Amino acid sequence: MSARSVVIVGGGLTGALAALSLARDGHRVQLYERRGDIREAEVVRGRSINLAISTRGLTALERVGLKETALEISVPMRGRQMHDPSSRLSFQRYSGNEDDKIYSISRGELNRILLAEADRSDLVTLHFHHRCIETDSDQSSVTFIDDRSGDQIVASGDLIIGADGAFSAVRSSLMIGDRFDYQQDYLSHGYLELYIPPGPEGAFRIEKNALHIWPRNTFMMIALPNDDGSFTGTCFWPLDGQYSFDQLKDPDQVRRFFQKWFPDVPDLVPDLGEQFLAAQPSSLVTVRCRPWVVGNTVLIGDAAHAVVPFYGQGMNAGFEDVRILCECLEAHPGNQKAALVSYEELRIDNGHAIAGLALDNFHEMQDHVASRWFLWTKKFSNLLQKILPGWYRPLYSMVSFSNTPYTEAIEIHRKQQRVLKYSLIIILAALIGAVFWIVRNR
Ligand SMILES: Cc1cc2nc3c(=O)[nH]c(=O)nc-3n(C[C@H](O)[C@H](O)[C@H](O)COP(=O)(O)OP(=O)(O)OC[C@H]3O[C@@H](n4cnc5c(N)ncnc54)[C@H](O)[C@@H]3O)c2cc1C
Repeated sequence: MSARSVVIVGGGLTGALAALSLARDGHRVQLYERRGDIREAEVVRGRSINLAISTRGLTALERVGLKETALEISVPMRGRQMHDPSSRLSFQRYSGNEDDKIYSISRGELNRILLAEADRSDLVTLHFHHRCIETDSDQSSVTFIDDRSGDQIVASGDLIIGADGAFSAVRSSLMIGDRFDYQQDYLSHGYLELYIPPGPEGAFRIEKNALHIWPRNTFMMIALPNDDGSFTGTCFWPLDGQYSFDQLKDPDQVRRFFQKWFPDVPDLVPDLGEQFLAAQPSSLVTVRCRPWVVGNTVLIGDAAHAVVPFYGQGMNAGFEDVRILCECLEAHPGNQKAALVSYEELRIDNGHAIAGLALDNFHEMQDHVASRWFLWTKKFSNLLQKILPGWYRPLYSMVSFSNTPYTEAIEIHRKQQRVLKYSLIIILAALIGAVFWIVRNR
């Protein structure tokens, strides 16, 4: 191993894990984060914003010995609990394999754990309130403003990592260079989070081990459990027009709207109108760019591939970037260029693939999951997985419960669909032939 000096821009989930992973591999890391230290921020109990972590994320955490810690603070979810407009419930398992679960985890708590672990290493220095304003990939340097003093500082390293999220300043600097492709697409929908408090003595007032969905065709709400019995609900609605955030202006109107479309929610959220109107909906963006590596500068996480949250894979994919980047550096000791080429080859198409899958799942979640046909196809798919475990792997399982590259998962899925389609045609033709033969020879 040849140790490098690394500058990481961004101390969110991906940047913090990158700092920890690289330090564990013996590299010296300087991490710069625009905000203050999240570990010093007041934690408002029960106001957790949560995320679903699955196999890819857990595999990356396992590499730094934090998988069990993450599981301890998370709530397993076995499937989707659908709430129809009459408050009828139906449950849909994520997988035919009983052990397959995704886990709801607090974003803030996970970020704090990663920063604390990174901070424990002598090889990591954390700098907060430092905002990146530009990078110079030729000089391998980054310029920051210390937002408390206004001072400008320049940091340099063998490797610069842009982990500064969807609106990355590192990526903006790279875009000024030649032949940098960039595409940014906003969804017509935004999101707004609602806190669903626990019942008496921390009881879960709706099914604990499920991701709850209220699909309503062009808009929906979801809720993920927190370990204190509360849930974080998220409304994904259009930003304007029919059934949009824009239409609800006072608490009574909000309550009436929920009573009509999400009738079991008002009882779960006593201050529904006030909460709803106090929050501002946020927008949802997909970012695709190419290349992810320019000289000694590399993009990871949302800086490389911001995706809409409907497959629950944004952070998972970012964590996978970190694992694979570290493995590439390990596989090419003393040859950083080869390591970065390899990282880009292994990741970039997969980043674009998960962006597409996440958009597809948006339509599945807000609309298709409510249909009987969809429920039956899911049941059939889970059954096939049980009886043909070596051959049949549903796409959702490959994405959420394996480390199979996203592009490969899509390829396998297409192949399986083709085989299933032709098998069904052959079975149907054989049945029709048999009926015809029986009728003729009676
Ligand atoms: C509503 C919603 C639900 C989601 N649910 C899931 C889920 O269930 N599962 C999942 O896997 N993913 C989910 N995601 C996606 C996930 O949140 C992101 O993919 C993940 O947070 C990306 O981490 P990151 O560290 O790359 O970027 P970020 O979390 O955006 O962190 C970037 C960091 O860089 C800092 N920064 C920004 N600019 C600068 C600068 N100029 N200088 C220095 N620092 C800077 C920021 O302050 C921040 O700390 C969801 C996203 C949303 C919006």
